[in-house]
Amino acid sequence: MRWEAPALLAEPAADPRPRIERTAVTRVHGALTCYEVQARTALERAPGGWSVSPYRGCAHACRYCAVRRGHRRLGLDPGPDFDSRIVVRTGIARRLRAELAVRWDGGPVDVGVAGDCYQGAEDVYRLMPGVVAALRGAGAAFTVHTKSTLILRDAGLLASAPGVGVVVSIAFVDDRIRRIVEPGAPGAQKRLELVAELNARGVACGVAMAPVLPLLTDSPDQLAATVRRVAAAGADGLTVRVLRLPPGAREWYLAWLGEHHPALTARYGELYGAGADADPGYVRRVTGQVAQLATRYGLRMERPARRPVPPGHPQLTLL
Ligand code: SF4
Repeated sequence: MRWEAPALLAEPAADPRPRIERTAVTRVHGALTCYEVQARTALERAPGGWSVSPYRGCAHACRYCAVRRGHRRLGLDPGPDFDSRIVVRTGIARRLRAELAVRWDGGPVDVGVAGDCYQGAEDVYRLMPGVVAALRGAGAAFTVHTKSTLILRDAGLLASAPGVGVVVSIAFVDDRIRRIVEPGAPGAQKRLELVAELNARGVACGVAMAPVLPLLTDSPDQLAATVRRVAAAGADGLTVRVLRLPPGAREWYLAWLGEHHPALTARYGELYGAGADADPGYVRRVTGQVAQLATRYGLRMERPARRPVPPGHPQLTLL
């Protein structure tokens, strides 16, 4: 009699989908894939305060974006997936209201750091009016970060919030470079007009000249042209930051640099070594040049002046 080996139970096939797809509702809007998830937390600790991000990932697709790495935790890649697969944190306004009441310490809040909070998906999901209303209701001093003209939709709401400031990122005004390194974002002229329009509508709006790209946008003429036009747009303050290359951003940016500007890769190696920050001497030189230009064109080197929270506002009773 022949002995028959028992059939081995087949291992269940591993689910090949990215982690986020196993738990999110997936919807496709044109070229974007959106993963709708219920926000489990809204406020995140950040240097000097807190941050809130209704979206993770960003269709503005900036080559240099420093927050790409977060997509790895979702089972997505920090390159093309970051640009086209956006996590939409539905219910974030409700969650934020609850957290502002119980765990917030009154510190300032940055809005839209893990992806532009007024990128195209916001036109579909409209999460920001609820976020702004929650922050305004708590009397929070907060700064909205964006490159998008969609923010004008909420200008009235923002103007009614005591303590709000908007920072529009305009790192350079050369549109040929912008089309390559910020392919999904509005052009510099549109953003300059946005700065003027927000200030005209009573929303304090400054500019972040961020990031200055070594050897690509850091010549004295390029820096001067940018600061001059930012001042002419009536920006309420200017800040500057040199390119950072943390993991995720580093591989993606340097791969692009090697393909399009191979002659610059050795110099980038000298400037950054294996770290995320450029050589401190280089950073001092660039930020010093921008500070001098700001003085020449009458700009404060600060974020927009946020109006103080009025006495007796609910925020003060939380502290
Ligand atoms: S707009 Fe900001 S969040 Fe979006 S890709 Fe560019 S740098 Fe990243």
